[in-house]
Order: sequence, then C-alpha cells, then structure tokens
Amino acid sequence: MKNLLIFYAKRLALKGFFPGTSGNITMRLPDDTILITPSGKAKDLLVTEDIVKTDLNGNVLEGNRKPSSEIKMHLYIYKMRKDVKAIVHSHPVFTVAACCSGGIKSELLAESSLIFGKIPLAPFASPSTNGIAESISPFVDNSNAFLLANHGGVTLGKDIEEASNRNESLEALCKVSAITNMLGKPVYLSEDELKELYDTH
Ligand code: 13P
Ligand code: ZN
Repeated sequence: MKNLLIFYAKRLALKGFFPGTSGNITMRLPDDTILITPSGKAKDLLVTEDIVKTDLNGNVLEGNRKPSSEIKMHLYIYKMRKDVKAIVHSHPVFTVAACCSGGIKSELLAESSLIFGKIPLAPFASPSTNGIAESISPFVDNSNAFLLANHGGVTLGKDIEEASNRNESLEALCKVSAITNMLGKPVYLSEDELKELYDTH
C-alpha cells in the first residue's frame, strides 16, 4: 500500500501538482491506520521508507520521518467521513489561482457539476495549523473537494485513484475557468440545465 501511495504521488508530481515540497497525500488502511507522506520532501523523490504510518490520533506507528504538517486536517476528515479512504492536498497553479481569487464555480462544466456539485472555498487559515480543519468543518460532510483560501486544493475519495482523479479534475476545471475568464464572460449552466444534467445521470 505504501508503494501505491508513492505511485500516485509521483504521477501527480510529474503533472505539476506539488511544486517544491508542497502538498500531501494520505490513505486509510482497513484497520483504520493512516499512511501519510513525510513533511518537507518532494513527492517525485519519495521512497517506501519515507511513508509514515499513524493511528487516527496521529501517533506514529511506523517510519522515521516527520508526518506531513497537515496531518491534523487529514485526520479530521477521516474522523468525520467514514467513507473516505484517501485524501490528496495539492498546490497546482490553476487551483491555487482559484484559491486566491474567490473560488471556482463547478457549473462552468457539466462533468465538474456531476463530480463535485458546489466546490466550497474555506476561509483562510494558516497552513499546518488546526485552523485548516476548522475552516473546512462546515463542508466536510457534503463535499469531496474544497479550496483552501490563498493556499491549495483538497480532494477526497473512496480510494487513492478516486482522490487523485478528483484532484486532476479540480485543476482542469480551474484551468478552463481561468482561460474562459481571459477570453470573455464565462457562460455557466443554468438551473434548468443543471436539473436536466442531474436527472439524466
Ligand atoms: P508538508 O510538507 O508538511 O506535507 O506540507 C506541505 C503543505 O502543502 C502544507 O500545506
Ligand atoms: Zn499546502
């Protein structure tokens, strides 16, 4: 399972999702332990020994490295959402740009509306503090993607593949939105179109 986490970390890293040493990924194992990326290491350089295993309270069970500084946010989500088995927090350019400019409307794209519904923008909180968990608390029950103001994106999944794909879809939406805004006035799906979309899927 550590190698599966590393596979997705490298896959997203190669696509520019973790500039520098930013971002972090976790997976929940069947025994409710958590695999987490180490703090402060580039994701494309990860090796098996870097991955830390903790319990749901953050106690380290395996590994010599310091777990990601965002562990409090990840554990909060796992405690609130029993269905979530993987979380990706990333800093790709267009997602971060959306985080710095008032958020993103998924109604721009049919696919995003279906995957995400509304995408909340959590108010600014200092990275790596308990404030991040507090800032997302109103949305955790009903959203599988959040933007953290002036920081980055977070996606949740039933497995690492889903959490990773959702992170890519979020970045693609933010990129399309940025370009659409440059080209002119974005045209969003109307309430009727959204209803039709949801009715047919
Ligand atoms: P870590 O290197 O501690 O995981 O922190 C990266 C990050 O994105 C903080 O928000
Ligand atoms: Zn971050």
